[in-house]
Amino acid sequence: MHPQPVRVRFAPSPTGGLHLGGVRTALFNYLFAKKNHGTFVLRIEDTDQTRYVQGAEQYIIDCLTWCGIAPDEGPHRPGKFGPYRQSERKEIYKKFAEELVEKGFAYYAFDTPEDLEKMREELKTEQNPSPQYNHLTRMKMSNSLTLSNEEVKERLSSNQAHVIRIKMPENREISFTDMIRGEVTFQSQLVDDKVLLKADGMPTYHLAVVVDDHAMEITHAFRGEEWLPSAPVHILLWEYLGWKDAMPQWAHFPLILKPDGQGKLSKRDGDRLGFPVFAMDWKDPKSDELTKGFKEMGFLPEAFINMLALLGWNDGSGKELFTKEELVEHFSVERIHKAGAKFDFEKAKWYNQEWIKTSTTEKLLPLVKTLLQSNGIEATTELLEKTIPLTKERCHLLNDFVGQLTYFFNAPKELDSASVLPKWDASKSNFFSSFMQGLESIPEWTNVEIENCFKSTASTHEIKPGDVQLPFRIMLVGGKFGPPVFEIAAIIGKESTLERIKNGLHTFNKA
Ligand code: GLU
Repeated sequence: MHPQPVRVRFAPSPTGGLHLGGVRTALFNYLFAKKNHGTFVLRIEDTDQTRYVQGAEQYIIDCLTWCGIAPDEGPHRPGKFGPYRQSERKEIYKKFAEELVEKGFAYYAFDTPEDLEKMREELKTEQNPSPQYNHLTRMKMSNSLTLSNEEVKERLSSNQAHVIRIKMPENREISFTDMIRGEVTFQSQLVDDKVLLKADGMPTYHLAVVVDDHAMEITHAFRGEEWLPSAPVHILLWEYLGWKDAMPQWAHFPLILKPDGQGKLSKRDGDRLGFPVFAMDWKDPKSDELTKGFKEMGFLPEAFINMLALLGWNDGSGKELFTKEELVEHFSVERIHKAGAKFDFEKAKWYNQEWIKTSTTEKLLPLVKTLLQSNGIEATTELLEKTIPLTKERCHLLNDFVGQLTYFFNAPKELDSASVLPKWDASKSNFFSSFMQGLESIPEWTNVEIENCFKSTASTHEIKPGDVQLPFRIMLVGGKFGPPVFEIAAIIGKESTLERIKNGLHTFNKA
């Protein structure tokens, strides 16, 4: 147990669809919070107004809610640490940036974009094609380290555009303990003098993340590996602001990698390989472009988070299927791997199939009903109660229910004749004609009676029942799929069965 109440945060920028890597970061935060009876905070990091996208914040909340990992505090559920949107906290940051200048850990910089461009042009070499603003270059620029005090005062009082930059020390080792990676060390001179406060008075991410993690009493800061290079700046800020004792414990989660090749899985990979990378459908408000999500693709949220948790984590026992409660119980940050995890859509579908299989009819029924409705099929609850248990084993995605169930409601539009015709002959045709007659007089319309009739007709015709089962199936459902064929006949009823056999005979005989 932790001495202090555990508080973790998921801190996305509202810039578009929520990538599954982001959902996994949120999930690991959630699991850690719940395991430690702590609080899971959502903080919206919207300081970069040029990247702000309308609707993205609500979308993030909707995605987390669908996943069953809704944050305990956030803009949607304010607690005592609000506001939870950084744009609404603007006034808080400035004084800390100024305090850093006063203490000599940061400085005002007045360079225009042209000045910066000029510096890069002048100093670039083959080894260093893009020189940074750092300990090597800062003394050549217009800032409060190079200008006189009067000059600086004058520029500030005349509101000349300026930023505040951190003054990275030279030759210092900056170390911290990462809960996954252990001791991590950076050489300070390799890090540039990052902007902390922008010309518009907004903080950059680097300042805001530290000020807010402190103000919100975050005990553990977990985020993706892509933020590891920023860690030395953050560690120094914790120190410079005098908060080192309150610094959270860090963990940087491994990347989710492309299924083929190297590098981080991107939306483009999903488009290219035909799978979603966003949790839910995302419609870009500017371009109206719609990007498919796991939800709409037919994933159960339980399967989605189970799959995500196992991308980079396991409990060491080889167990793969976990409910959310089991994840909470078994989760530990220390068991997250250092190396990136390759995303595998086939495996994701396997998780979903396993979850569909073990879901109750009661749970699946409303989802399937809505799905069928959107495909123009009005299914009664009674019929769904019978057919869902028969078909669920065959569905990888919820949407597969449409194909698996349509024939219970409508006769197939097309029959897979190619699978029947090579072996179709008069004896089979005669068998089906007799079978139809036999069905007319069976005592009760049940799968057992239908099967008995099928077998006895086959025996009279000296035909193997196995040779006529496939044609029968194709007559009823159109293809080589579906649950046991006599069960299908029992459910669709006598009239439909006879009609489908008649139609099948007609199709196969005339071909
Ligand atoms: N705003 C950052 C992001 O978009 C958060 C990084 C962090 O958690 O420190 O991922």
